[in-house]
Amino acid sequence: MAKEPRTFHIWVDDEVCKSCGLCIANCPKKILRFSDRINKQGLNPMECIDHNSCIGCLSCAEICPEVAIQVTGLTREPAREEETHG
Ligand code: SF4
Ligand code: SF4
Repeated sequence: MAKEPRTFHIWVDDEVCKSCGLCIANCPKKILRFSDRINKQGLNPMECIDHNSCIGCLSCAEICPEVAIQVTGLTREPAREEETHG
């Protein structure tokens, strides 16, 4: 059975991130970096620059001392139009 290609999504809580860089140093795919955004602490929170290259290893989430990262796995599907009026 062929494996479904998967896309993982990295979500960072900008206001919780302390810009320590541990996740950036530990990502085997080197797809994390400090963003240009500045949070309320005056720090640049981490961002993922290439979700498609993420292998979902969770190294970033597990090493984050602030528990600021969530990794979610999404199966590649055609975009669905959700009509949620009202
Ligand atoms: S889950 Fe793994 S590959 Fe994906 S961003 Fe985190 S450390 Fe990098
Ligand atoms: S390990 Fe956590 S606190 Fe440190 S830079 Fe990454 S997201 Fe921010």
